[in-house]
Amino acid sequence: MSDDSKDQERKAPLKLSQPGKLELKKTVETGQVRQSFSHGRSKVVTVEVRKKRTFTSAGGAMHEVKDGAHSAAEADLAAAVAKVEAAARAVSAHDLTNHEKNARARALQEAQRQEEEARRRAEEQAARHALEEAQRRAEEEIRQRAEDEARQHAESQPVAEDEAAPVEAAPQPAAPVAVAAPAAAAPAAAAPAAATATTTTAVEAASAPRPRTDEEEEEEERAKKRAAAHKPAPVKRTEPRRRTGKLTITDALTDDDRSERGRSLAAVKRARERERLKHMQKGAEKVIREVIIPETITVQELANRMAVRGADVIKSLMRMGVMANINQNIDADTAELVVAEFGHNTKRVSEADVLVGLGGEADADEHLTPRPPVVTIMGHVDHGKTSLLDALRETDVVSGEAGGITQHIGAYQVTMSTGGKITFIDTPGHEAFTAMRARGAKVTDIVVLVVAADDGIMPQTVEAIRHARAAQVPIIVAINKIDKHEANPDKVRQELLQHELVTEDLGGDVLAIEVSAKKKLNLEKLEEAILLQAEILDLKANPDRAAQGVVIEAKMEKGRGSVATVLVQKGTLKVGDIFVAGAEWGRVRALVDDHGNAIKEAGPSSPVEVLGLQGTPAAGDDFTAVEDEGRAREIASYRQRLDREAKAKAGQRSTLEQMFTDIKSGVAKELPIVVKGDVQGSIEAIVGTVEKIGNDNVKVRVLHAAVGGVNESDVTLARATGGLIIGFNVRANPQARDMARRDGVDIRYYSIIYDVTDDLKKMLSGMLAPTLRERFLGYANIREVFNITKVGKVAGCIITEGTVKRGSKVRLLRDDVVIHTGDLAQLKRFKEDVKDVREGYECGMSFTNYEDIRVGDVIECFEIEEVAGVL
Ligand code: GDP
Ligand code: MG
Repeated sequence: MSDDSKDQERKAPLKLSQPGKLELKKTVETGQVRQSFSHGRSKVVTVEVRKKRTFTSAGGAMHEVKDGAHSAAEADLAAAVAKVEAAARAVSAHDLTNHEKNARARALQEAQRQEEEARRRAEEQAARHALEEAQRRAEEEIRQRAEDEARQHAESQPVAEDEAAPVEAAPQPAAPVAVAAPAAAAPAAAAPAAATATTTTAVEAASAPRPRTDEEEEEEERAKKRAAAHKPAPVKRTEPRRRTGKLTITDALTDDDRSERGRSLAAVKRARERERLKHMQKGAEKVIREVIIPETITVQELANRMAVRGADVIKSLMRMGVMANINQNIDADTAELVVAEFGHNTKRVSEADVLVGLGGEADADEHLTPRPPVVTIMGHVDHGKTSLLDALRETDVVSGEAGGITQHIGAYQVTMSTGGKITFIDTPGHEAFTAMRARGAKVTDIVVLVVAADDGIMPQTVEAIRHARAAQVPIIVAINKIDKHEANPDKVRQELLQHELVTEDLGGDVLAIEVSAKKKLNLEKLEEAILLQAEILDLKANPDRAAQGVVIEAKMEKGRGSVATVLVQKGTLKVGDIFVAGAEWGRVRALVDDHGNAIKEAGPSSPVEVLGLQGTPAAGDDFTAVEDEGRAREIASYRQRLDREAKAKAGQRSTLEQMFTDIKSGVAKELPIVVKGDVQGSIEAIVGTVEKIGNDNVKVRVLHAAVGGVNESDVTLARATGGLIIGFNVRANPQARDMARRDGVDIRYYSIIYDVTDDLKKMLSGMLAPTLRERFLGYANIREVFNITKVGKVAGCIITEGTVKRGSKVRLLRDDVVIHTGDLAQLKRFKEDVKDVREGYECGMSFTNYEDIRVGDVIECFEIEEVAGVL
């Protein structure tokens, strides 16, 4: 605005005013401006441009139009404007007529005079104040000096002499005044400068030179900056002069204040930076650290451990040609080089160190208190394990009182009428026992071997004996089914001898109790025997410590998340505890006992259901309460990584492949199989034929044969023995399938008995897998069946697993039993034929020459592929 008006000012006299006929110009200009608003509206407004001050020559005399501003500051500004204008006019002076020139010169002079006048007035005022100040100070000094002199005669020239200096010395630093100032102004101009400086700084300035402090440097810098900021001020003026113009006592005081309090942000930053640099130089005698390096470490963590910045570590890595970001893992060797570069010492540790101290310290004897024994019941199929467990459970006085609520949690505790307690682990037989043992968990204190008195020692009985022996767990024999008339307990005792189990009545130390699970005979006796054995074992644990235990079983439950049945072995598990369970961790959200009651804590040997896991651990995993979440996460992630690596290493090698190698090398003498079939007849036929296969070196051993789909228990059984599962016209249920895939258990499906025997023969002779092998593609659930004329029945399906491809082979499963095998005729999505449909999508399918499809049936898709004859 002011620029505009100046422009106009410059041009106006040239264009509009006529020489010799100058007139007073209006100070208020009016104009119209169109304002725009939203939605296209606009409005014309009249604006007044009010000029601060304009000069127009009227009758050769300059007339100054003022805004009525009388303050020194405004006068200053006005003067500045006037001068710029004057200078501008001087530039264009040669274009002007003489008359104009004269008029201008006069106007200039007048302007200068007036400006001078204004300044003088202001200066006088300031000077008056300064003078007063100086006088007051001088008087003070004189008084002071008089006092000092009176007090000390010896020193006739006291400090006051120096102190007087600033008043005289100060005028020198004050810059000379460029514009000729009235004589009276000279001392006055100097005085305010002195006034701005505090007495002390003046003293310092006058005294001998000394190194400048940071503050002074900064003060100087600030002053320079201030000066720079005032650059557009009048050309001729110098800083002190201008300041004197508007200086008042309050100004001077506030100025003073500012210099004391306000260090600029930049200054503070500079000071800090200087401090840091100093610190770094001092830190030259570097601390040499011992840096612990695990097998892998993130760049960030390595930097932290060396107490350097992550960026420095990255730089160092770059120099070695390793491009890694802050979150990346580097191996121990690289880390060691980096550490060496930074001049620290390294200490390599195994990653397993995260587990150090996990188990806690061993308990001192005085902290140990007796705990109930943990019992596993083992024995051959159908000898009555489940029946016995159930019968024993009914002897529980606690659950009896509670109305006999039974809760299946994989383990339960029985409280006897005598007050004695026994914990039973209710898992299917020795496979679970072995599976847990394979994971390093010693859960069981005592094995109860169930032998049916009418059947005697059977293969699985022998196996159970072996497993118990291997685990060095004492055996108590329960000779079951003594209620049966063909029962022959003595025969059982005799047979046990062959397996070095000498019962008491035959002069040994093995307790053998004749029971009947069905008739509930001698159950108390059995329990007493268990407690007696427990006494011999002297089972003790410290209940006052962080809980430790074993996961008996774990599963995902709808609405409850991951639920694990845990057997507490040491310490007490409480709600809210943070724990690690195998490769998972969690915080105990709730504890449920075997009677279904929510409890607050669980002591040694008690089985509890634990809610609050982040994932589902495996049976046999250890369970340890840890101090905090960080530790829990660390351990869990370490274990998960181990698992992943182990899996990657093992590749797709299944237990069956292992078995082949073992058979070939002669390590294994038999091929254990589990047979599941659709009908009893075919199972019998298969078992009959496969048991004849083999020679003196190797043969097939049927671990278990039953009607029905392949379930989890079958998979465990096969896994524990390294065998395979044969599904004859049946399929595995999803849980069993997942488990088999996870554990590398081979499940083979057949629909022709001859194929079963043929394959097994090949396997035994080491000829390995057949060249034609089917490859599983996917499963689809039939949601709806449409009857379409001409086409026939079409199944509306959703793919629940894998993919379904056009032209693949299909099997129709009803309740895990194969009811049809054939080809896929059509695969459609929204009336369109498609190549394949992936998991989670819906599709329509129809079979060639097969119509009997029902809602709820499962369609299995597979391909037949050629497999190389070598494993
Ligand atoms: P598991 O396979 O070892 O768990 O055996 P089960 O507990 O399933 O029992 C197999 C069969 O034996 C069932 O039909 C039971 O009823 C039967 N059984 C179990 N214990 C006894 C018993 O003491 N006496 C008689 N007579 N039958 C029994
Ligand atoms: Mg059973």
